[in-house]
Amino acid sequence: MTAGPPPRGLASRQRRATACAPAVRVAANMAELIVDHVTRQYSTRGEPLVVLRGVSLELSLGQSVAIVGPSGSGKSTLLHLIGTLDRPTSGTIRLQGEDPLALDEAALADFRNRQIGFVFQDHHLLPQLSVLENVLLPTLARGRPGPAELRRAGELLDRVGLRDRLAHRPAELSGGERQRVAVARALIRQPCLVLADEPTGNLDRTSALSVARLLLELHQDHPTMLVVVTHSQEVAALMERQLELNNGTLG
Ligand code: ADP
Ligand code: MG
Repeated sequence: MTAGPPPRGLASRQRRATACAPAVRVAANMAELIVDHVTRQYSTRGEPLVVLRGVSLELSLGQSVAIVGPSGSGKSTLLHLIGTLDRPTSGTIRLQGEDPLALDEAALADFRNRQIGFVFQDHHLLPQLSVLENVLLPTLARGRPGPAELRRAGELLDRVGLRDRLAHRPAELSGGERQRVAVARALIRQPCLVLADEPTGNLDRTSALSVARLLLELHQDHPTMLVVVTHSQEVAALMERQLELNNGTLG
């Protein structure tokens, strides 16, 4: 058992050392997310719909990127592929030196749960659960949350400004507060990769910028990779790089 008070900041040395444990260690300076010539087409009753025509992207821990582009250009499709929720028609995606899609279904689900945090436009919180329970949800795959998970949930909720709302239900929160809970939930397992699909799309400008800044701050506290799809130029500008998806290519 450990004695003494828990570490106060999320950026403590110990947490840095234990955050984002790689499934396979990759060489120093090597990109930990490699999207290589990925295409995705959907079959339709007529001609196949080609959405992504060869998208490549490399990210290292600590980097953030905004992806902008017109509605229907394939941003969500790309994020789903990077998040291992969908399979490319061709091309490869490697995360931490591993091809997650080569894993069987159970191992893939575990990999995704451990290594990838998602934030969606709609918060996707469970209405019957409290704020604290929602944040702890991703940890349930490992059984009942222990003291470490409870402490981390508390720290994250503190960090997103909702420490005094632990027992609230999502319906009792504002839109911005719900997204803050969703951000805390995405980070509870210290994933390597955080994927946010229009996370501020339903928020007013002030809440949008505050949620985006929060995502960025928490990403900077930890060595994670952050990919944010957004329609907001202001949100995009906060990220380290800005890329546009257009006609199936990213540039
Ligand atoms: P964005 O997120 O940039 O608005 P999407 O990735 O959601 O775009 O969609 C890109 C295109 O692919 C759209 O034309 C959409 O209708 C189409 N699409 C998305 N999912 C499917 C699917 N499961 N089957 C067929 N077409 C799809
Ligand atoms: Mg979309």
